[in-house]
Amino acid sequence: MSEGTVGTVPDWRTLVAHQRPPWPDQARLDAVVDDLAASPALVTPRECDTLTARLARVAEGRAFLVQGGDCAERLDRLSARAIRRKLRLLQQMSVILTAASGLPVVTAGRIAGQYAKPRSQPTETVDGRTLPVYRGDAVNGSGFTEAERRPDPARLRRVYDASRYTLDVLRASGTEYFASHEGLLLDYEEALTRRDRRTGRRYAGSGHLLWIGDRTRDLDGAHVAYFATVDNPIAVKLGPSTTPEHALALIDRLDPERRPGRLTFIVRMGADRVRDLLPELVAKVDASGAPVVWVSDPMHGNTVEAPGRRKTRLFDDILAEVAGFFEVHEALGTHAGGLHVEMTGEDVTECVGAGLGFEDLHRSYESACDPRLNADQALELAFLVAEMVPP
Ligand code: PEP
Ligand code: MN
Repeated sequence: MSEGTVGTVPDWRTLVAHQRPPWPDQARLDAVVDDLAASPALVTPRECDTLTARLARVAEGRAFLVQGGDCAERLDRLSARAIRRKLRLLQQMSVILTAASGLPVVTAGRIAGQYAKPRSQPTETVDGRTLPVYRGDAVNGSGFTEAERRPDPARLRRVYDASRYTLDVLRASGTEYFASHEGLLLDYEEALTRRDRRTGRRYAGSGHLLWIGDRTRDLDGAHVAYFATVDNPIAVKLGPSTTPEHALALIDRLDPERRPGRLTFIVRMGADRVRDLLPELVAKVDASGAPVVWVSDPMHGNTVEAPGRRKTRLFDDILAEVAGFFEVHEALGTHAGGLHVEMTGEDVTECVGAGLGFEDLHRSYESACDPRLNADQALELAFLVAEMVPP
């Protein structure tokens, strides 16, 4: 455990790791984990500390965070061109928000490690055939065959290599940019965790910012325990079942020192619930004095099924959730700190609205998981959110 951790947090390995894939072969998993543990970390503690400092400004109300990218990165789509397009789009969104607010914007991708997905069911049935669900390219393949769906520990190494390639492309672009992903696979995360020689503290080495998903934020689970041991900036997704008490307990576990920039709450309540559920949460956290960053994820509470069983999201719902998020913060005098979206620089047709109808979804639906905004939709969203930013 990190010397910086206050209180007693049990070793995460002794706790239930929700969403842990049913790896078929422990010996092969151990071999991959050993290999990763002997490999260089992908990010440095210094870079992580820089992001914490940037996020501290967001917590103070003096900056915004724009975080976005694929729901699930795909190994077979890895290309320098696609990475650059994603980066450019995120930067354009950031510029739009900077222009409207006069505040600096911190830009972070869901990128270079966003390869593992939590799922609501362990299996899925298509045309009477049942197979394990796709859990992200870090675990298995998205194709609906038995071979593809079998978890394969060798994929963890492929994800590491792809993440390293992605970071190389991002670092060549000369602008400050951070990599983030859901820290779901604790075997992978622990294998890449390193102790910083400067300070003796532990850092996740797989990305600058890691977040805990809405399905794995159990206070007594392995994810919260692991995250408590690393000094990176971290985030937690908060869905509609989050009580203020749960949020306060997360703060106690994950940010006992109340370090500004350490902890971000990514709220994803749904357009129809955010105005009811968010005020009490923000008010109680604010009253506690904890310096958390509040960010709106208007994607995950607004997923609907389109004809043909495809998952989609309506642009107007996405916009309505962000509007509710800004209204709640304005009423409480707290800072609406930013936006977390699923988007891509590619010309996909996955979300409906802002130029696309339900009839367009079949044309270019490329996501292996949740529907993303395309470039036009993401920019349109940024312009409309810019109008919500208080002067
Ligand atoms: C996600 O960000 O892709 C995700 C699964 O989100 P959540 O944990 O909020 O459901
Ligand atoms: Mn998603």
